[in-house]
Amino acid sequence: MALREEQILRYSRQILLKDVGGRGQEALLEGGAKIEGDGPAALTAAAYLAAGGTPVVASDEAVCPASAGFLVTPEDIGRPVSEVLARVLPDVNADAATPREGGRLAELPSAWNGEAPWVALGGDGTRGAVVFRGPQGCVWCFGETVRNLGTPPMGVLGVALGALGALVFQRLRLGMGPELGGRWLVAPGQVLEMDLHLCAKCRGAR
Ligand SMILES: [Zn+2]
Repeated sequence: MALREEQILRYSRQILLKDVGGRGQEALLEGGAKIEGDGPAALTAAAYLAAGGTPVVASDEAVCPASAGFLVTPEDIGRPVSEVLARVLPDVNADAATPREGGRLAELPSAWNGEAPWVALGGDGTRGAVVFRGPQGCVWCFGETVRNLGTPPMGVLGVALGALGALVFQRLRLGMGPELGGRWLVAPGQVLEMDLHLCAKCRGAR
């Protein structure tokens, strides 16, 4: 597909980044993401992905009370996430309004299957955590690492975690490595490398 003039304007900031470019923007528009979660992290990630041109499919979980304020109104609490996002995302970016799966971005706990990229949003009680896997990333190491994490933070840290998760998802979609990794979000804007649970094969490869 070729970008239309208004799309070049809309995505100019991304296209100007050398790692995205026009080709990359087309790839984001042609991709998709299944979003699972009802909190601020998942909803923020959905909004960032849609704004960047990636169509999203949301789950039917009810919007959690902590999500009010960002994208959703107090009246949306308890409604299915899919219904609320179907209403608000076309205003964020009409290009991404047609839901399309392909890859998964989910709040923990979650079951993992389907096509990469996989991006997990979780936490350890104080910090946010994002663990990610591209098509070549080790499924075992990803699974073992997310199995030891809890649910993602709420509030400002949850919103920041969602934005970071969307960025990571877009990078994987564009084929940018690494294929497996994790980051702690200590505070909005403060990111630390995470030590992953590695299988013998991956340990040997590092
Ligand atoms: Zn491994």
